[in-house]
Amino acid sequence: MTKNLIKILRERGYRLTPQREMILAAIIQAGDHVSAEDVFTKVQEQSSAINIATVYRTLDMLVEEGLACRTDLGIGEYMYATNQHGPHIHLICRKCGYTQDADHSLLKKLEETILSEYDFVADLHHIAIFGLCAGHQLEDEGGQE
Ligand SMILES: [Zn+2]
Ligand SMILES: [Zn+2]
Repeated sequence: MTKNLIKILRERGYRLTPQREMILAAIIQAGDHVSAEDVFTKVQEQSSAINIATVYRTLDMLVEEGLACRTDLGIGEYMYATNQHGPHIHLICRKCGYTQDADHSLLKKLEETILSEYDFVADLHHIAIFGLCAGHQLEDEGGQE
């Protein structure tokens, strides 16, 4: 599907400048979560004419079109991934940042309920849930540090 990302956007009426295509290619090649800064660094190697605002606009366009997701993975900036990354849930320890993946099928029921009860299609393709890892659950709750 990534190969067709540019094609899909064209079919939806987007006019893609060479800069935008370069940005899209960088996101596709990454194949993993990338921040806007990551993408910006990558495209700067090829063209210094691209500015960070264009990177953000292109990422926003992908998110609006449902072709990529914007996820808070707890590192202070949003991470972007195209829809071919995932689906999965990231479980992230809020204390140490320890991350593990959980099975996406856990969200099936939630997804169905949100649709039937609220008539809302939830973007649950790639989400993060914060909490405490095994090690940190054992820590003394009221302990002073
Ligand atoms: Zn992920
Ligand atoms: Zn932890």
